[in-house]
Amino acid sequence: MSKPYELSTLGVRAGTARSQFNEHSEALYLTSSFVFASAAEAAAGFGGSSSDYVYSRYTNPTVSMLQDRLAALEGAEACVATASGMSAILALSMVLLKAGDHVVCSNAVFGATVQLYATLLARFGVATTFVSPTKLAEWEGALKPNTRLLFLETPSNPLGEVADISALSSVARKAGAALAVDNVLCTPALQRPIALGADFVVHSATKHLDGQGRVLGGAVLGRKGPAMDSLVGFLRTAGPAISPFNAWVILKGLETLEIRLLAQSERALELARWLEKHPGVARVHYTGLASHPQHALAMRQQKAGGAVVSFEVKGGKDAAWKVIDATKLISITGNLGDVKTTITHPATTTHGRLTPEARAAAGISDGLLRVAVGLEAVEDLKADLARGLAA
Ligand SMILES: *Cc1c(COP(=O)(O)O)cnc(C)c1O
Repeated sequence: MSKPYELSTLGVRAGTARSQFNEHSEALYLTSSFVFASAAEAAAGFGGSSSDYVYSRYTNPTVSMLQDRLAALEGAEACVATASGMSAILALSMVLLKAGDHVVCSNAVFGATVQLYATLLARFGVATTFVSPTKLAEWEGALKPNTRLLFLETPSNPLGEVADISALSSVARKAGAALAVDNVLCTPALQRPIALGADFVVHSATKHLDGQGRVLGGAVLGRKGPAMDSLVGFLRTAGPAISPFNAWVILKGLETLEIRLLAQSERALELARWLEKHPGVARVHYTGLASHPQHALAMRQQKAGGAVVSFEVKGGKDAAWKVIDATKLISITGNLGDVKTTITHPATTTHGRLTPEARAAAGISDGLLRVAVGLEAVEDLKADLARGLAA
């Protein structure tokens, strides 16, 4: 057997399926349905007894290429692409859970994920306990006989808390529950949760997988088997399918994923080191820094720190807003995972709907700023932040 390909090679080569025209770049099959040569072929397609493409809600050749390439990168046997990251998390929950089941979820996951479990799925009889991503004992203590799913994001956004994926996979296994990891911040370029024991990986492809802030997309990855098969059925029945156009943009984004993530992490680390020494900054949260409380664990799980750097400025909200308003280059927007650097004030945007007490409990102080580092020269980013920090 020949040696398996490296990640960089898989990013540009895996999953490519050429048409009869032998195009070099992957084709975009912008079609909602597919034609059959006969009534019998149509019946076989709809009945699932042939592998023919039928309708793009079920799947589409461009979407298949994306799924195969992402599966290769994550080291997963199967991948189902979805319309967005949230529909990926919803789809996974819909196939794993039923009324009466229980979920243990990190309290430092994406805001919409908290809403999904705490509000929406709660209405359908699924109960969720939220725990600290870093405290193993809280996960163990929250387990119930009906716990079916452990869900986490690592590192967390914006504070970069790190959950121990392999330790939590043992906890899940002992409890007879599945472990799902939202790998949006690291992507397989930096972290491969399945190799660390996760059963499922979910993605918002909207972020680094696209990488240039263009389209929405998502994916669920895991082992071949009933759960992944049910996901295909869920998409067919419930409909959160990805547009072939979006799939094509993301597929091409994967070609530069590793090189982008490494370059963005390098810039993020340099920026974090500079911020740590800045007199206007009280504290920097970045897993790549030696001062990060879980630096060692992070560097065991991750190839690099990733693109998100958060820091607390001295002087609270007013000082934080001054830094934002003094920028001329960095984009003031909530998105991350773009080659254009972005800045946000979590306390008044992403976490603005929380009560002040809940915000404090989540560690989101009024002086906290989150920068999602892109590909600009780091000297230009420093100069852009220095203006407001000096004020
Ligand atoms: C953005 C994001 C999501 C949701 O993805 P959408 O594509 O916006 O639906 C989920 N998890 C994390 C960590 C995210 O950053």
